Amino acid sequence: MDPDLPTHPRIVYARQHNISCFGLERLHPFDSCKYRSAWRLLHGRFGSLLRRCRIRTDRPARTDELTLVHSPDYLRRLREPRFLCRALELPALARIPGPLLDHFVLRPMRWATRGTTLAAAAALQHGLAVNLGGGFHHAKPAAGEGFCIYADVAIAVRSLQQQGTLPDHARIVHIDLDAHQGNGVCHAFRDDRNAFLFDMYNGSIYPLADRLARDRIDCDLPLQPGTGDEEYLDRLTTALPGFLDSVGKSHPVRLAFYNAGTDPLAGDPLGGLDVSADGILERDRFVIRQLRDRGIPTVMVTSGGYTSGSDRLIADSVSHLLQQWGKRA
Ligand SMILES: [Zn+2]
Repeated sequence: MDPDLPTHPRIVYARQHNISCFGLERLHPFDSCKYRSAWRLLHGRFGSLLRRCRIRTDRPARTDELTLVHSPDYLRRLREPRFLCRALELPALARIPGPLLDHFVLRPMRWATRGTTLAAAAALQHGLAVNLGGGFHHAKPAAGEGFCIYADVAIAVRSLQQQGTLPDHARIVHIDLDAHQGNGVCHAFRDDRNAFLFDMYNGSIYPLADRLARDRIDCDLPLQPGTGDEEYLDRLTTALPGFLDSVGKSHPVRLAFYNAGTDPLAGDPLGGLDVSADGILERDRFVIRQLRDRGIPTVMVTSGGYTSGSDRLIADSVSHLLQQWGKRA
């Protein structure tokens, strides 16, 4: 940890992060173009400052990067429409030929996956970076599920280690506040004792049955449906500082990933946690402040969020980061 690390936030985004597949993507409640909407809102608010903070994703993640985490057999099977559509929970897409699905659905996910790697590299250099996309926390090394195909966070870690940007035994933390438990992250880091996982989620929804994942979490905070702002923020503010202090006690934490899924929002059809928009903003401010106070380079990914207001929630949290630190960009 380096308390003197300067904070110059970077926002990673390219229009290719957005998924558009003949309108069929709307069969899933996830708004696959919310990154574009969030970007436009931010651009309207910050204009040239946002352009100065921007890192434009340069390309999709390559196969040699994906295989740092995923098995070649899994990547090959993604070309089978039935296999892919089960993972996407979109059976209606199974009639679309594999190459078209790859182009319209998987390729944008590979762009967003590359975005997480760029954001991680930028965080190490500038202290704080947001990928408008990514946070595919249900993707496992040999299986995709819950609209998550590529394990972007694990791919980012392994890519930076391979480049030598992040030492092999560097300690990292993953803080997951999406309403769903991040089971894919648990599987991807199952045998990595340098990765420490904090996960607070609705304990009564998918992926309920994944006990192996639950057992891997270092700080496990399942919540009741309908938790609401007061208890949600109380559980978070009570647990997170102690978790960060204990992980960083013997070895510095070199990098933190923050899954800032917006589906705890009240009215979200999948999240069920009944947290207000103000509560989500307060949550994001608290997490980022805790990490910045400890000088831990931080990557925020946007993950789930199934209400039409998800783009605005993301824009509001990123606006806060830019107002707080962006003038020094
Ligand atoms: Zn979720």
